[in-house]
Order: sequence, then structure tokens, then C-alpha cells
Amino acid sequence: MGSYSKASVASAKTAIFRIAAFFSLLVAVWVFIQSGIPFALALDMKIERAIWIQTFSGWFFVMASGWLLYLLVHRTLTAISSAEEDLKLRDRAIESSVSAICITDNLAPDNPIVYVNPAFARITGYSSQEVLGRNPRLLHGADLAQPELITVRAALHDQRPCHVVLRNYRKDGSMYWNELNISPVRNDAGVVTHYIGVHSDITAAKTHQDELARQANHDSLTGLPNRNLLRDRIDHACARTRRYGDFAAVAFLDLDNFKVVNDSLGHSLGDHLLRAVAARLESSLRAMDTVARMGGDEFVLVLSDQKSEQSVSGELQRIVELFSQPFAVDGRDVFITASVGVALYPQDARDPESLMKSAELAMYRAKESGRNAYQLYTVEMQTRVTERLALESRLRRALERGEFSLHYQPQVDLRSKRIFGCEALMRWKQADLGTVSPAKFIPLAEETGLIVPIGEWVLRTACRQCKFWQDAGLPAVTVAVNISARQFREKNFLQLVAAILAETGLAPRRLELEVTESVTMHDAQNMIADLQAFRDMGVSLSVDDFGTGYSSLSYLKRFPVDRLKIDQSFVRDLSTDADDAAIAQAIITLGHSMNLRVIAEGVETPEQLAFLRRNQCDEMQGYLLGKPMPADEFGKLLESGRTLAP
Ligand code: C2E
Ligand code: MG
Ligand code: MG
Repeated sequence: MGSYSKASVASAKTAIFRIAAFFSLLVAVWVFIQSGIPFALALDMKIERAIWIQTFSGWFFVMASGWLLYLLVHRTLTAISSAEEDLKLRDRAIESSVSAICITDNLAPDNPIVYVNPAFARITGYSSQEVLGRNPRLLHGADLAQPELITVRAALHDQRPCHVVLRNYRKDGSMYWNELNISPVRNDAGVVTHYIGVHSDITAAKTHQDELARQANHDSLTGLPNRNLLRDRIDHACARTRRYGDFAAVAFLDLDNFKVVNDSLGHSLGDHLLRAVAARLESSLRAMDTVARMGGDEFVLVLSDQKSEQSVSGELQRIVELFSQPFAVDGRDVFITASVGVALYPQDARDPESLMKSAELAMYRAKESGRNAYQLYTVEMQTRVTERLALESRLRRALERGEFSLHYQPQVDLRSKRIFGCEALMRWKQADLGTVSPAKFIPLAEETGLIVPIGEWVLRTACRQCKFWQDAGLPAVTVAVNISARQFREKNFLQLVAAILAETGLAPRRLELEVTESVTMHDAQNMIADLQAFRDMGVSLSVDDFGTGYSSLSYLKRFPVDRLKIDQSFVRDLSTDADDAAIAQAIITLGHSMNLRVIAEGVETPEQLAFLRRNQCDEMQGYLLGKPMPADEFGKLLESGRTLAP
């Protein structure tokens, strides 16, 4: 390095700079010329400064233009590669879509398929080779009458999108539900070149949806239509009737004693029986008729197209007779009958609810009149119901309004001829209705449960009255009070009687409870213990209306009762009807053989009395001795010391 002088190094540097500056100037000038920007160069006398400036700006321009060029190329390449990526992505999306995609060429004749994705093959079973070049209608099979196809054709004609659900058919011929979206594809000139169809197999969802709809309208046990669908069917039958001028029948069918059968068979076999009944009813009806299950053992039949009341009667007789054959339930034969009530459209009622109500009412009549029968609805049935409802609401208020009173009917001992007791009988005096017979309101009070508070009032009033006569120094008597089954089954009935006796101060042996055979025979085994409890308390018991129910003699023997009351229906015709006389005689003998006293009710004539005396009847009660009378009158009768005429 020593052979070079400082000056020669400096001048070499300057030369290199000058050459570099010159070239950069040239490049800068060239760049400026290329970019078309006008420029001027001021040449400084001090050329070096100018050269420095030019060198600097020259480099700057070289770098800037290089950078710009790089950016330009980079951007272009990126754009090209992302467009390619997009395309690939779309391709992959279409190929992996779960919906089938089918593209048709609208410019070619008959709109042939030009592309299908793999899902298309999966759903339809056709490979792409099998469908390319063919019109998509191959999926409709022979099912060309679907209304949705009209929608599709109209949309294609108008070149607009459409959305339909179609029945389509796979290559193997099986049907599937296709939710189809078709969209036209236009080119830059707005011409529809293709159609894209997106197909989704919604069979599973639709089946589920249909099943839900079916469940909402059908009974799960029997598969019959339920209440919901029934209303529809009745509406339908009524509409038909209006069009053809005939009439429709709504029949309410209830199995007789199903509860007993169900309890004895067990509930699972009970269900079998209901299914067997449903199947038999269904198979006996025409396709246009309906049988629905209302729940429990209740069915409703809708019979349309009925020409006359006779044709309905014939039809119903046939339905009742369907039950004459046993039902096969789990390998055994089960017999069951049905009671049917029928209402006709349009004469009996005009809407489904009222038709069913009227038919149900008629069904209850069929039950009352002995079951295993049908009964047509009549207007009187409704009148009865309305009257009963009115009576019920009055009955509910009667107690608090003090409308009840008790009458007392004397009972006499046939040997001593002395009055030994009385029966307390209710009277209801009602402001608008006058005096209502207990025969009318007691059954209603029993059904509604009102008998419980009313019966308590009777017991208390009768005991208080009896104690009152006793305290007034009148001859001692017993008071007999009628007790309904419902009262007897009340949990605390025994305690109630004890409390009333304690409260009124009446000696228990002065009270007698009259119960009917149905009370004693219901759950006879448990009844014995209940009756014994009263016996232990000192209260006596009698069986009222004896001979009208179904007493089991073996139970009767074990019942701790004191007295049998021969029902007045046998006493009425004692002297004229040999059968009644024989029954009365038999009851007296039976009672005596069991060490019971026997009293005859409803004795009105001396002939009846003579018969009873001849046959050793112990006691009697009836108009012959005295009608039921108010308490003060009975008090006077006791005071008078009157006895039965010899
Ligand atoms: P029952 O207990 O058999 O009462 C006898 C019925 O026969 C009474 O009718 C009585 O008035 C009537 N009778 C009595 N002697 C004669 C007669 O010589 N000839 C005729 N034809 N009838 C006679 P009533 O008072 O109308 O009572 C009817 C039924 O109502 C009673 O029949 C009884 O079952 C029920 N009942 C009355 N009061 C009560 C009560 O306080 N509680 C309950 N649970 N039932 C009652
Ligand atoms: Mg009685
Ligand atoms: Mg009686």
C-alpha cells in the first residue's frame, strides 16, 4: 500500500464517484424519462456538489423504482395465487358438501347435468357418469303428479330461484324427501347459462316430524285417533252431511264394569283388552268412519253417511253385538260388554263438543237401563241434567239457609201395641220448589257428597230431639236415622256419632242407624268390624229396605245387626200378591232364625197388619199408625199414650 500516494488514492476515489455519479445520473434520467415526469438539471459550477446531489438522488431513484417494481410484481403474483387458492377452496367445498349439488347447462338442449358432487352420488345412488348429460327429472321416477313439480317448472320458465320439498327416488327405487333449492347462474351479459340445484335428503327429519304429528293426534295405547283428531273427524263428517243432506252419528261407547275386569286381570292385561276392543271396533267400521279413544275405557265412533234413524239403530245394534264374542287376551277368553249413547247431527247438536256431550249423556242412560245396550239421545235427557244442576246449586245452599227439617214416623211393637220408637225422615222446604221429596234430593246429595254435612245435621238434630222428649218426661223411645253408604265410609264416622251422642247427652241405646244392604255388602269383610264398633258403643243397627238388594246370607249371619226392615214394596201387595206374601214371610222367618227383630215398613191397611201379625212379625211402621210428622206433633202423640188399635 506504501507505493500509492494519498493524492492518487483521493483522485481514484473521485474518478469512481464521477463514473458512478454519471451512470446513476443516466439511470435517473432514464427513470425520469420512462416515468414521463418533466425535469431540469441545473449544472452547478461546482460540479462535484452537483455530482453528489445527482449521485444521491440517482441512487434514491434506483432504489425507489426497484422497490416499486418489486411491489408490482409481488402484488400481481399474490393476486394470481390467491385466486387459484379461492378456486381450489370452492372446489373442495362443493366436493365435500353434505348437500348434493347438481349443475345443469341451460344453453344445451334439455338442460343436461354437467356436474354433480360426491354427495349427489351418496344420496341418489347414481354415479356422476350415470347422470352427466341427462336431465335431473330422472330423480322424480314415475311420481310426476307432485304439485311441487309445477312450482319448479314455473321457476325454470321465469328463470328465477325456487325452493321446494319433493319426493325423489334413488337408483334402487326407494323414495326420499328432497329439500331442493334451484338458482340460475348468469354470465356477464345476464344470460342464464346454468342452473345450480342443491339437494338435501330430509327424510329422517320429515319422518320424525310426521311421527310427532301422529303422536299428537293418536292414542299411544291403541293407535286410534285421540280427542284432538276426533274433533276434526266429527267436523269433517258434519261438513259432509251438510253437503249430502243425510246425517251423521256420534256414538259414545263405554265398557261395562271395565274397572272390575281391569282389577282382576291386572293392568297390563287390561291394556291388552283395550287394544283388542280397539282393533275389533276399528275392523268393523267402514273406511270413512272413525273410532277414537277418549282415554280409559271410553271410545267415540263417528258414523257418517247415515240415511235414517233406522240405519243408525241397525249400525249400533251391530256394534253392541260385537261384544257378544269374547276377546282373546293373553291366551284366555275375556267377556266384556259395552253401553253406547248416540247423538245425531244435525238434529241433536251442531258442534263436536255438544255432540260428544249429548252422546255421553245418552250413554249414561244406557248404563242406567241395564247396560250392554245403546240409547239414542233425547231432549228430555238434557232437561233432566239442567234440572239436576239447578237442584244441586239449591241443595248446596239449603243447609245454611235452614231449609231442612226432620219429620218423625212412629214405630210400634205388634205385641205390646206400644210406640217404641220413630224414624227420622228429612224434609226440604224450598221457597220456589215447595217441598222436595227425599227420594229426589237424597240421591243427588249422595252423588255430590253433600250428604256428609247434611247427614251430620240430621244425626245431631234427631239425637237432640230424642233427648228433648226424654227430658220432657215423655215415654222413652229410640230414634232411627238413615245413613248413606257415603257417610258410612267417611273415615271418622264412628267418632262423629260418639261426639254427637256426648254433645246431646242421648244414651247410645236410644239411637238406631239404618243402613241399606248395599252398604253392608260393600266390602262385607271390613264392614263386620265397623258394625261391631257401633254395637260395642251401644248403638243399634238395622238393615233398611231388606229384600231389595243382594244380601249374602252367610255375611248377614255374621253382621252384628239388630233388626231387618221388610221393604215396603213387599208389604204393599201382601194381601193380593202371593209372591210378595211369600217373600215377606220368608224374611220374617229368616230374621227370627238369626235372632233379629223384623219390622215391616209402609203398612197402610188392616189386612196388611193382620197378615203381619199372623206371621209373627215383631214391629211395624206405616200410615196405618201414623205418617211422618213434625217433632211437636210426635211429642203430642207420645204424650197421649196412644197405642195401636187392636
Ligand atoms: P226409607 O228409609 O225406606 O223411609 C221410608 C219411606 O217410606 C219414607 O219416605 C216414608 O215417608 C215412607 N212411608 C212410611 N210409611 C209409609 C206408608 O204407609 N206408605 C207409603 N207409601 N210410604 C210410607 P220418605 O220420607 O219420602 O223417604 C224416602 C227415603 O229417603 C227413605 O226411605 C230414605 O231412604 C231416604 N231418606 C229420608 N231421610 C233421610 C236421611 O235423613 N238420610 C238419608 N241418608 N236418607 C234419608
Ligand atoms: Mg229408613
Ligand atoms: Mg225403607
